[in-house]
Amino acid sequence: MDTGRKDSVLIIEDEKKISDIVRAYLEKEGFRVRNAENGADALTFFQEGPDIIILDLMLPDMGGEELCRIIRESSNVPIIMLTAKSGEEDRIKGLGIGADDYMVKPFSPRELVARVKAHLRRAGKTKRKILSYNRGSLQMDLERHEVVKAGSPLQLTLTEFKILTALAENHGRILSRNQIVNIVQGYDFEGYDRTIDAHVKNLRHKIEKDSKSPEFIQTVYGVGYKFIGTPDAE
Ligand code: CA
Repeated sequence: MDTGRKDSVLIIEDEKKISDIVRAYLEKEGFRVRNAENGADALTFFQEGPDIIILDLMLPDMGGEELCRIIRESSNVPIIMLTAKSGEEDRIKGLGIGADDYMVKPFSPRELVARVKAHLRRAGKTKRKILSYNRGSLQMDLERHEVVKAGSPLQLTLTEFKILTALAENHGRILSRNQIVNIVQGYDFEGYDRTIDAHVKNLRHKIEKDSKSPEFIQTVYGVGYKFIGTPDAE
């Protein structure tokens, strides 16, 4: 699915001067570029499944380390950290929280682009994990956070994506609402058991032909939910 597309880069940086330069260099090399100027926008754009992230350590609403930690809870996307601090302690800290690389400002945009390419080459060698059900009618790319229904990409919220993939990965097993809450927590999930029902309802509207006789997510009354799609052969 979606093979011929350009690689996408998410730049999380509040200094417009820097992000504009980096964007210009990357676009010249054929990348699709998104720029988030704060952590909240970054988490929204992250749902689009960027191929690589460039993350500034100092953001207006959130530390880059915190953001990195949140992203790492659900993704192995390569992260290159930008830092104004050149102290060794900060570098080690940056890598300890899951960043793959770092660059100290001021840096050469050309070198950053070279590192972006190197990380993408490396990431491309690790096999993408795609779950496919009902003869390809529903596919989930766990790495890129993409879900495709009958050939068309769906717009799922991060919570919906987490619920769907949690159910799919526990294929045939019933997950209680409580278990689902635990799985999706860590994404600013202001939720209790009941809100899971609301998310599942929205999810069904997006993935089921007929929500009343679902092909994928079955309600097990009084217990929870079960994924019932038929996995395709690898
Ligand atoms: Ca900054």
